[in-house]
Amino acid sequence: MNFKNANLKALKTLVVVGNGMVGHHCVEQLIERGALEHYHLHVFSEEPMRAYDRVHLSEYFTGRDAESLALSEASLYQTPGITLHLGVPVLEIDRARREVITAQGCVTYDTLVLATGSYPFVPPIEGAEGDSRLVYRTLQDLDAIRAAAANARRGVVVGGGLLGLEAANALKSLGLEAHVVEFAPRLMPVQLDDFGGLALKTQIERLGVGVHLSRATQSISAGEQYRYRMNFANDEFLETDLIVFSAGIRAQDALAREAGLEIGPRGGVAINDECLSCDPHIYAIGECASWNGSLFGLVAPGYQMARGVAALLCGQAAEPFVGADMSTKLKLLGVDVGSIGDAHAHTPGARSYQFIDEASASYRRLVVDASGKHVIGAVLVGDNSYYDTLLQYMQNAIALPAEPASLILPSSAARRPWALARCRNRPPSARATTSTRARSARPSMPVAATSACSSRRPRPAPVAGAAPACSSKSSSMS
Ligand SMILES: Cc1cc2nc3c(=O)[nH]c(=O)nc-3n(C[C@H](O)[C@H](O)[C@H](O)COP(=O)(O)OP(=O)(O)OC[C@H]3O[C@@H](n4cnc5c(N)ncnc54)[C@H](O)[C@@H]3O)c2cc1C
Repeated sequence: MNFKNANLKALKTLVVVGNGMVGHHCVEQLIERGALEHYHLHVFSEEPMRAYDRVHLSEYFTGRDAESLALSEASLYQTPGITLHLGVPVLEIDRARREVITAQGCVTYDTLVLATGSYPFVPPIEGAEGDSRLVYRTLQDLDAIRAAAANARRGVVVGGGLLGLEAANALKSLGLEAHVVEFAPRLMPVQLDDFGGLALKTQIERLGVGVHLSRATQSISAGEQYRYRMNFANDEFLETDLIVFSAGIRAQDALAREAGLEIGPRGGVAINDECLSCDPHIYAIGECASWNGSLFGLVAPGYQMARGVAALLCGQAAEPFVGADMSTKLKLLGVDVGSIGDAHAHTPGARSYQFIDEASASYRRLVVDASGKHVIGAVLVGDNSYYDTLLQYMQNAIALPAEPASLILPSSAARRPWALARCRNRPPSARATTSTRARSARPSMPVAATSACSSRRPRPAPVAGAAPACSSKSSSMS
């Protein structure tokens, strides 16, 4: 097959490599903006299915089929002027000839848009293969997991991040006893702080999912009770029938590397504010793109890039891409989790207010700037109803109320005699250690609100209408 456009000479050729969420959004935007008057569009997809909703991929296990996850009607890609090549990976880019090369032939492009996304990273572990080396990214991956689960009793996910917990939920929905093995000392180490990770672990364990922190799988061998045995340090091990790796993603930049495009420091095609690579004919958008050294593993920034590139290619004014807010709000195994801005309070001078409810394993942290006037971050576990307000405070630099802690206290806190707002000086890690010890030493108190402030800062005033004032007495977590 030769894809060269004998009878379409009047039109330029625009090639999009990758028909994932962002590649598809770009195509939609191009159509909407009239690109087909100027270009013939070739879209190459390594996957055999046209673009589908990866964000809701897990619903494939709970009743949705591939077609219902599709992001468009099939007719969209039958529009005259568009050729969708399904199951046809681009193998090479010849920049000098401006050609993309596939096993079936090549296409000469005027402009090329790379939207090749990411691939799951699987650490090199001896013995990881077949059903002990599954991943969670595509519909085909989920088919493989479903097949492996058919004869399984227990499944383990390696990686306690956002996607790992989603994969654990999927294993549970397939009727397996699910476990999560995480290298870091807490779950969702990127989005949550120590208390948040602890609250999430508690909630997830209550749902019957095993959580194993600070464990690095060294090798996988044959098991005795189950098919595989995951071997950790200190002769610890866990047996399982299947293993899903969710240990992070890597930008799919192989084509770009081989073509000599500039690559970002953490991988990904280096792009400028217009999503243009170092080659003036090649753009990169979505998870395969590295802007200012940053990669964006969420769909919204990718959509923003797609809109910008589509506008530029249609000769329209385009918003430059200037980074994206990575705040996230999600439900993991039915547990609300939210992370906003500087959730870890890394900003110099940042101060925190914390609310902890050990009984329900709910946790909220509000991070404010050095002036104490603006929200710069937050962590939520157990109740995301606070998320939108906190995000608004941060994004619009809204001045904080006189008592910032009121933003994370339950509305009924004023009536609760045991609700405390207090100043703490110790760093979060020290507080978490103390908390864990204290939890095993005595029964939990039901609720406490804690405001952690710098040592020179006066204690916050009592929450408006709330019974307790700042207290130097210990909270439930210390
Ligand atoms: C289970 C799951 C849940 C998620 N939940 C969320 C969420 O709640 N919120 C959120 O913002 N994000 C979420 N994400 C992330 C989100 O799905 C991604 O940010 C988004 O899909 C990125 O889109 P993309 O087009 O850049 O990459 P992808 O969607 O990965 O698409 C890239 C496509 O390019 C194809 N490709 C690669 N190389 C080639 C080649 N050489 N030739 C042809 N085709 C090629 C790939 O096969 C793939 O189909 C989730 C992801 C997963 C897996």
